Amino acid sequence: MLTLDAKAPTGPIDQRWDRHKFDLKLVNPANKRKYTVIVVGTGLAGASAAATLSELGYRVLAYCFHDSPRRAHSIAAQGGINAAKNYQNDGDSVFRLFYDTIKGGDFRARESNVYRLAQVSVNIIDQCVAQGVPFAREYGGLLANRSFGGAQVSRTFYARGQTGQQLLLGAYQSLERQIAEGAVTMHPYTELLDVVVVDGRARGIVTRDLLTGAVGSVAADAVVLATGGYGNVFYLSTNARGSNATAIWRAYKRGAAFANPCFTQIHPTCIPVSGDFQSKLTLMSESLRNDGRVWVPLRAGDTRAPGAIAESERDYFLERKYPSFGNLAPRDIASRSAKEVCDEGRGVGPTGLGVYLDFADAIRRLGEATIRERYGNLFDMYQRITGENPYAVPMRIYPAVHYTMGGLWVDYNLMTTIPGLYAIGEANFSDHGANRLGASALMQGLADGYFVLPYTIGDYLAQTRSAPVDPETHPAFRAVEAEVTARLQRLVEIRGRRTVDSFHRELGTVMWDLCGMARSDAGLRLALERIPAIREAFWSDVAVPTAAVAGSGLNQELEKAGRVADFLELGELMCRDALHRTESCGGHFRVESQTPEGEALRDDAHFSYAAAWEYAGDGAPPVLHREPLQFEVVTPSQRSYK
Ligand SMILES: Cc1cc2nc3c(=O)[nH]c(=O)nc-3n(C[C@H](O)[C@H](O)[C@H](O)COP(=O)(O)OP(=O)(O)OC[C@H]3O[C@@H](n4cnc5c(N)ncnc54)[C@H](O)[C@@H]3O)c2cc1C
Repeated sequence: MLTLDAKAPTGPIDQRWDRHKFDLKLVNPANKRKYTVIVVGTGLAGASAAATLSELGYRVLAYCFHDSPRRAHSIAAQGGINAAKNYQNDGDSVFRLFYDTIKGGDFRARESNVYRLAQVSVNIIDQCVAQGVPFAREYGGLLANRSFGGAQVSRTFYARGQTGQQLLLGAYQSLERQIAEGAVTMHPYTELLDVVVVDGRARGIVTRDLLTGAVGSVAADAVVLATGGYGNVFYLSTNARGSNATAIWRAYKRGAAFANPCFTQIHPTCIPVSGDFQSKLTLMSESLRNDGRVWVPLRAGDTRAPGAIAESERDYFLERKYPSFGNLAPRDIASRSAKEVCDEGRGVGPTGLGVYLDFADAIRRLGEATIRERYGNLFDMYQRITGENPYAVPMRIYPAVHYTMGGLWVDYNLMTTIPGLYAIGEANFSDHGANRLGASALMQGLADGYFVLPYTIGDYLAQTRSAPVDPETHPAFRAVEAEVTARLQRLVEIRGRRTVDSFHRELGTVMWDLCGMARSDAGLRLALERIPAIREAFWSDVAVPTAAVAGSGLNQELEKAGRVADFLELGELMCRDALHRTESCGGHFRVESQTPEGEALRDDAHFSYAAAWEYAGDGAPPVLHREPLQFEVVTPSQRSYK
């Protein structure tokens, strides 16, 4: 039976991390090279962790399924990264960033973690500047900031609309330096398919070489999963097409608890779905809401062109409903408001599922050149996708799945419930509670990788004397490798009639309709009937080419099939989690639990906890464990952005 020990320190909040660091055991520099750490994933979290661990002296084996670490989904991050530098002298502080993050997450995150995140945010910016990340600067040379949702200060550092790319290039260069020195061994095109646990500790992984198809095992002293989020369970999302849940899902099935799986972020500003052929949605960065105004026609069914609708006939609904935060209301709130006006028949565009994001006022005030300088690449991207010129007509946007706050449960040291197995970045259940604030994912991923894990992993290694294991002969490795191979074999032997994508799309539709922006008891129960049926159909009718597995070479349908099979199980856990949490909080909106004004209504008396699910075997219901959340510094209140 699994136990949840968060190891969260107590005492004055601003001293907890320092005291904890002092209490952690150290590995002496000469001994570090005796330890091997596997880091799976080389996005911002994984690349920063691998580079830093290696710089400290550990032997690092890094893995990603891409051809290069630079292809990680992190590269897509557009808008920016938060840090409590207070460069704008506008009242920001570590405490304010902590408070905004806790409140933004609707009081469903651990105080100690979130405070630490706010503290190390300032180090991240220094680290990245030292690496040469070209953050935007003011005329005088100081780093520039802009605002993001859920905050009334400007604390977001950015590099045009390519912040993730520039940050990843910084982390990637540090990683490459270590690779060149022989301290990190990089394994691209390699997918983790399982985690190997020996004597209750994570001791290695089983992988598949995506080019040759060969399945193999690797042993280490600790394993770090930095494998990103699972938004693609919805099929359509803003995530990169390859993002998937396989690593964390297989770890869950080996004993790592999965926390708050239903906490999903729906981002308000994405390009609306345009047809059935689509396999991907495109984000329009939240930073655009600094200057863009969101509106719909006042009258339902008004199909006139936006320019023909007079000011008096428009509803700037975010400014109307949330005058203090206006267009920068947090994502969950802005998304629900957009859905609401569309449900009232006031949506725009061919499908009626869209609202305007209008820059006309900002262009009049600041000039087109300034807007182009701030958001040029985003405007170009919009124009290329929609064929409309957003300098001349308002953008059309609609909410879409974007980020998953749920993930593997980790303690304050970022260790999962399997000793020696860590989860960092979007792969863990994170510091964002039930709703992540914009520009805080990059902050958390880099905090984990550069500044938290490198300290905490030493504490585990210093205290753990693991006997060497040979993955070629050890029974645990042999058993897991055999299971992995058998599963791959089973997939190619089905020889069914339907494509992997058709099952994925069917699952995604169920998830979006029944476990998306609004969730109800009846809807979730229906989803829990439908998903097992889709899963059953998948395992009897999916078409995966090639009959032989080992040495079968490149087989992208087989890769996808394995990932979709995992989504088909994870989706069920998400619905189960959403069903049990009968309160609304953050992005989890249960229609039965809302205020008279239609806002999320929490139930702190019954749900002030992180829900950590334990796998209990195929066909058996998972076991729910609760980590109570203690609020000693902030008092949970009904969130208000009015
Ligand atoms: C369009 C978009 C824009 C965004 N903009 C912002 C922003 O402006 N600010 C912000 O803070 N956040 C933003 N986010 C969120 C943020 O980008 C992500 O949360 C963050 O980049 C995740 O980083 P990560 O390192 O955890 O994972 P990822 O970058 O997703 O990396 C995952 C890595 O794991 C590897 N991997 C996964 N599974 C396996 C496996 N089984 N075997 C081997 N390797 C595996 C992949 O190859 C990859 O290297 C945005 C998200 C999207 C979708």
